[in-house]
Formats: sequence, C-alpha cells, structure tokens
Amino acid sequence: MRVLTVDLEDWFHQIDVPSVADAAGWHSLEPRIEANTHRLLDLFDEAKVSATFFCLGWVAKTYPRLVREVVSRGHELACHSHLHRPIHALDESTFREDLRTALRYLEDAGSAPIRAYRAPGFSLTPSCLWAVPILVSEGITCDASFFGGRHAHGGFPDLDYQTPFRLRHLGAELVEFPATTMRLGPMTMAPAGGGYFRILPYGIIRHMLISRAYVMSYIHPRDLDPDQPLLGDLSQWRKFKATVGLRGSRSKLARLIREEGWASIGAVLGRIEAENQPIVPL
Ligand SMILES: [Zn+2]
Repeated sequence: MRVLTVDLEDWFHQIDVPSVADAAGWHSLEPRIEANTHRLLDLFDEAKVSATFFCLGWVAKTYPRLVREVVSRGHELACHSHLHRPIHALDESTFREDLRTALRYLEDAGSAPIRAYRAPGFSLTPSCLWAVPILVSEGITCDASFFGGRHAHGGFPDLDYQTPFRLRHLGAELVEFPATTMRLGPMTMAPAGGGYFRILPYGIIRHMLISRAYVMSYIHPRDLDPDQPLLGDLSQWRKFKATVGLRGSRSKLARLIREEGWASIGAVLGRIEAENQPIVPL
C-alpha cells in the first residue's frame, strides 16, 4: 500500500513567513506552479501511476485550467485548504469558511465532489481536533493530516500510527491516512516527502520505505524546481530546507515511483475496506 500524494501549491506558500502571510501579495510573485506541476504530471504519466493532488482553493481559483488538466490526466483532486493557513491559526468559524471556499473552487474546477483533505503543514494537533467534525459535516471522509511525532507546524508528539485508521472525535469519523514517519532520538523524520526526501540519498530512502506495508508520500511541485526564487525573510534553517537536494529530486522521484504499488487515496480506499480499519478515539 503506497499512497502517492502531491500538495498542489506554489513555491511561496510557506507557513509563518511574514512576507507571504497576506494572500493579496501572492499575485505579484513569480508563478512557477504550472511548469512544475507539468513536470510532475509527465513523470507520473511515464510511470503510469495516479496520485491524489491536495490542492489549495486559491490555486483552483487562479489556475482552473491546470486543475482540470490534473483531473483529466487521471488523478484524484483533494483539498489542502483555501489559503494555506495552519488549522491552529484559525477558529472554528474561520476554518469552516476557509474549507467551504476551497471546496467551492476545487469542485468548480474539477467537478467531482471532494472527499479527502490534508491540513497545511500537517497542522492537525491534539488541541485542534475540533476540525474533525467540521470536515465531516462538509463532506470530507478521508484525511491525510496526521503526523505521528513533532512537526514544525503540527503533529502528535506522543502518538505513532503508521497505517490507516478510523480517527473518531466527538462522534465524527474520518479514515485517516497518516504520514510515514520514523523516530530518531528526539527527531521525527518523514522520508517520503519534503526536505527529507530531497536530502537523503535514494538508496536510504528506498531502504526506509520499500519494506513497509504502508507508505504515505507528500511531494510538492517546488520540490522539483532548482531555479525557484527564495524568500528574503526565511530563517537560515528554512533557507536550507527549501533548497537542499532540489537538483537530484526529479530523478529520485522517477526511480521511487517505478517501484510497484503506488496509487491515489481513492484507489487504496477501494482496496482496504475502511470499515475493517481500527478505530482510534482521539
Ligand atoms: Zn502545503
């Protein structure tokens, strides 16, 4: 069970960076999402794999043609919020409003009802599980926001689930597809996406992932773009994380998805029988 997912956002969709906090300024930044998404789509075509694309509502509003192309090339469309704000930065009513806006733009561009969600920056945390009943009430049935361990913007430091489960909170239930993580002392690594995927040599990534019964990946279009601009107000650490390994990531991803069994969330869900997954009350 290897789940291939993309967070469909541009290079400037960064959390906690003052220069890009206001979405009103995004239109003045160099757009790179179309070219980068085409690189991903071509790689997926070559490997004959389908993925789930967690797309920002803002992206569907700004690039409806790109989103239609993602769907027409056989991929599943899912929701990654409207404006890429972490859940814990919102209250219940602004979260619901953001989610509804995103779903409207995504469904307008991609047509089918949206059933899967991933929070920006894996920002589902023990203190914002109130989002679960809201997601369910807006038609979401699957979630991929759970990160077992510490994450810069979220995570569940004391829990570690590495296969799908039914997350139940206040009577609402979602089929949860957790991020693939590994504990290393106080650190939690997520080798199937982002900076860890870019920095680690292919042999190590393969060794970490391929023997597992379940892998959840999270690729960004910018992960394949060595020529992207860099925001001036990123910390040194975040500059490093944003740029490390960009040159080798395309060929690494091409090799990884040539391994058998990669599929979208919808396709995996058809195989695992959600009702047979363990219930985890949180
Ligand atoms: Zn994101």
